Amino acid sequence: MDVIAAISTANALSAIGIVRVSGEGCFALCDKIFQPAGGGLFSVSRSREMVLGRLLDQEGRVVDSCLAVRFPGPASYTGEDCAEFHCHGSPVVLGEALSALFAAGARQAGRGEFTKRAFLNGRMDLTQAEAVIDLIESETAQAARNAVEQLGGALRSRIEPVYDGLLDSASRFYAVVDYPDEDIEDLTREDTLAALNRAERTLETLLATAGRGRILRQGVPTAILGRPNVGKSSLLNALVGYDRAIVTDVAGTTRDTVEERAAVGGVLLRLIDTAGIRETRDEVERLGVERSRRAAEAAELALLVLDGSQVMTEEDHAAAEAARMVPRTLVVINKSDLPRRLEPAALEGLGPVLSVSAREGTGLEALERAVGALFPPGAAPAGEVLTNARQTEALGRALEAVRGARSALLGGLTPDAVLSDVERAMN
Ligand code: GDP
Repeated sequence: MDVIAAISTANALSAIGIVRVSGEGCFALCDKIFQPAGGGLFSVSRSREMVLGRLLDQEGRVVDSCLAVRFPGPASYTGEDCAEFHCHGSPVVLGEALSALFAAGARQAGRGEFTKRAFLNGRMDLTQAEAVIDLIESETAQAARNAVEQLGGALRSRIEPVYDGLLDSASRFYAVVDYPDEDIEDLTREDTLAALNRAERTLETLLATAGRGRILRQGVPTAILGRPNVGKSSLLNALVGYDRAIVTDVAGTTRDTVEERAAVGGVLLRLIDTAGIRETRDEVERLGVERSRRAAEAAELALLVLDGSQVMTEEDHAAAEAARMVPRTLVVINKSDLPRRLEPAALEGLGPVLSVSAREGTGLEALERAVGALFPPGAAPAGEVLTNARQTEALGRALEAVRGARSALLGGLTPDAVLSDVERAMN
């Protein structure tokens, strides 16, 4: 495959930035732009060892003094010859280094193309390739742990035995199908049934993790509910960890779709409709009964905020009613730095009650723990949580086909009917 190159690190000032190349003939190409300080050619330097040298542009001007390293294929990330240049992390320097590689004959790598090559060259399977992007995009430690285990092949090693079991059943059936006059022997039937049952159990176990996986990857849709001035905005700032105005005037977006994300107690929360909380000046809209109802409808977690220094009002009750629509609620009694006047008897049964001061930042750790307790990591080992919609959908279809094969077998259907379902499951 042709030589591809890309800047692999973020486009921001940093101490080090990395430019990566991969493809047949890439070492000769690197020789055109990189001169080892110790003399000699980079293409014959020791593999997997850093070489100090000068990176040159087309005119021979020095772009950077940097380190380079060779990863000869097939034991490289992509499975082909690869090299990396560890430059000083200026976007300008990295851009020039990349241009030099283009001038020498490389082309810009597409998004994910290094990993795509790794997949095409058999360095990883699809679950692992998908784990790469999950790991890069992970926003909590738990999500990262799951992705790194999948990258190591955890999911694959759960699915492979299922596949092998089905393959084994299928091969027994090929024989039967070739001699259609024969009955399915009892032994074949027993073994196949056992294999199908095992497959079903594993697929069910994996599929049961998909809900948790969605939370790991996308976060918990969360509504902060409460009447004006109880401190929703202050709590939001405390959770997100910094003060910032939301940019809402982006063409094509409405205020209702603006959301922020915060890792709270190890759980990624997707805070719904925070624009309404932060920005609405209009008093009528600030009451936001309709708004909070809509936010509550979409939420899996409600943070019901009350002002502990005031007695309950009608509006507090209205907010509590909205919170009742949400599967899980935490009652957050704010302004604990002020004398307490709230008597939350009316909040019975809504959910755990916590006392915080958003202004002083007190009680937030207990809030974090409470969120973590509502969304525990679950029993599935890291790496065996399905975070990917394609994987979930594919396993769902496999499970359906396994069940179809079993009904066909038990219902005395012809061997080819059983076989076609087994093959569907394997696909
Ligand atoms: P929102 O309308 O629910 O978003 O409430 P804000 O976050 O805008 O807060 C309303 C008022 O309450 C502001 O003046 C805040 O400074 C104040 N406030 C918020 N949290 C606290 C707190 O924990 N203690 C005290 N004393 N005041 C608070």
